[in-house]
Amino acid sequence: MTDPAETLEGRTALVTGGGSGIGRGISDELARAGALVLVVDMKAGSASDTATSLARRGLAARPITLDVTDSTAIGEVRSMLEAEDSMPDILVNNAAIFEMGALEDIDPPSWDRMIEVNLKGPFLMMQAFIPRMVDQEWGRVISISSTAGKTGEAYASHYCAAKRGLIALSQSAAAEVVPVTVNCICPGFVETPMTRIETRFWHSMDPAVSEELVVQRMRDQIPLGRMGRPEDIARAVRWLSLPTNDYLTGQAINVDGGLDFH
Ligand code: NAD
Repeated sequence: MTDPAETLEGRTALVTGGGSGIGRGISDELARAGALVLVVDMKAGSASDTATSLARRGLAARPITLDVTDSTAIGEVRSMLEAEDSMPDILVNNAAIFEMGALEDIDPPSWDRMIEVNLKGPFLMMQAFIPRMVDQEWGRVISISSTAGKTGEAYASHYCAAKRGLIALSQSAAAEVVPVTVNCICPGFVETPMTRIETRFWHSMDPAVSEELVVQRMRDQIPLGRMGRPEDIARAVRWLSLPTNDYLTGQAINVDGGLDFH
């Protein structure tokens, strides 16, 4: 029999951006660990695709359409979940956008939108869902930052600034909302639709370099020799979510095949 401290049976997990890429992998992993997964995405069809594919396999999942920048809509979702007694015990802030552009070309609306989705969204979700975790003296908050949030990356200054901010937000919350644990996972290069934005960008900068060659160059930087997969990130999220994992907080853990060591 599985040790109850090693499963997520009886827990509810809310995963933002659960309709695609890493968020879909996290939803799958947490559902297989026994959690009821609230699959949140601003794209209704994507959220329901993930939830339906989990439900078909007998796993507990439910789609919720929500834009994480919309504080009114977040309040409505919270009231609905409260009324149904299905508030999340685990919050995974995964939804984000990515864009590339030279510092001089990033216009203020693009800057604002990047900070709005990638930093203010997680803040609003924490504000909405952490207090009940504190009241029940148990909760896990895991936000998906990026190694780029630690190192910076050329042509992605707004994205990197938001991802660094997400680490600082999480560390500040970790010091404040005990015994809820609050951590970040920092992926390196993971094969998802988001990565295509980067490969297309580098190809557009030098059309002689194909997108396949861009991917190969990314892979060549990774000591473990392959691109990340959503399930690599998802396994780390599940591990951080476990009841046994109650002495680890305020950390930003790289899951990147060794791309970056700090
Ligand atoms: P993705 O583009 O495949 O998926 C992102 C999902 O977030 C989409 O389903 C999208 O609809 C949703 N979303 C976007 N804005 C939203 C909003 N305002 N409200 C609700 N949902 C919204 O991206 P991915 O590669 O799976 O990235 C997942 C996370 O991992 C992101 O936080 C990203 O920054 C991070 N990350 C990705 C990589 C990578 O190489 N793919 C590397 C480092 C970090």
